[in-house]
Amino acid sequence: MKISIVGAGAMGSLFGGLLAESGNEVTLIDVNDAHIGAIRAKGLRLATDGGDRQVTVLKALRPEDAADLPDLLLVFTKTLHTSAALSGVRHLIGPNVHVLSLQNGLGNVEKIAGFASPERILIGVTTWPADMVGPGHVHSHGKGVVRLMAADGIERPFVSQVSEVLTEAGLDCTSDRTVWAAIWEKVAFNAALNSICAVSGCTVDELGKVADGSRLANDVVTEVLSVALRMGIDVDPAKCRANVASAIAQHIGHKPSMLQDILAGRRTEVESINGAVVAAAGRLSIELPVTETLLSLVRLAEVRAIA
Ligand code: NAD
Repeated sequence: MKISIVGAGAMGSLFGGLLAESGNEVTLIDVNDAHIGAIRAKGLRLATDGGDRQVTVLKALRPEDAADLPDLLLVFTKTLHTSAALSGVRHLIGPNVHVLSLQNGLGNVEKIAGFASPERILIGVTTWPADMVGPGHVHSHGKGVVRLMAADGIERPFVSQVSEVLTEAGLDCTSDRTVWAAIWEKVAFNAALNSICAVSGCTVDELGKVADGSRLANDVVTEVLSVALRMGIDVDPAKCRANVASAIAQHIGHKPSMLQDILAGRRTEVESINGAVVAAAGRLSIELPVTETLLSLVRLAEVRAIA
């Protein structure tokens, strides 16, 4: 399959590297010149449980230099950059191009809908982890899965093809109709751990040092998933609270991405996580006092971070 990935940071490079190694024609598209330049010069250094190697069978381009229309455009920017990134590759989104988002948060389909017709949008969620080590160098240790579906819920052969291509690349993908529950459960998990760590400066395990950390995290999960349940999405709050508790017990020293962003002086994905949930709750007249307070506090932390 001909696959272009817009936003080729940690996750885009991981997916691009594995998809290229399994025989797909992959183009990484990014605005980070140091990263693109390093990949063009030496290939992508990809360190996974499968080994530490250079992947050279892929292209790396800036958006304005990409000309080949792909079969699939995979979006892997942070959510606050999605619309700008899609504007930059608008010339690649021809009438036959499908667009897939595996980004975190809510609102991804709505953003892509400004650029591609509804029947060509795929949405999903992934539990694969990845980190940028430096320009041209990404690592990912452990295993994850991908779950995806057509955004309009209609089963089409192309969705199964994408699922097979991702699985052949070792990314363990299933296409199923319960993706929205998985997306909301991940949003609840991230709304809890990311925003509390971002405003407190605590690592995930430090949230367990006083009762307040776990209590706040549980309150957020309960609030967020109350919105999903009201929308008729079959989420499992008890399972999600258990996942949060096990992360607090096990993720020693882990700084979630929102905390990393604050420490690095960048804006976070809070608007598409806590922000999008609070907006959805408002439309249903549901109050989310803890989630909304954390949203306000992360916004204030961003003011200081980007000053
Ligand atoms: P990242 O910051 O490492 O990569 C994002 C890339 O997008 C960067 O290389 C950046 O230069 C690029 N970008 C920004 N603006 C652009 C533009 N206008 N055009 C082209 N490229 C542009 O982020 P990431 O960690 O790979 O996360 C990507 C998404 O995946 C996020 O939504 C994140 O929440 C989600 N996610 C991340 C992980 C993880 O472990 N890293 C796991 C699951 C989901």
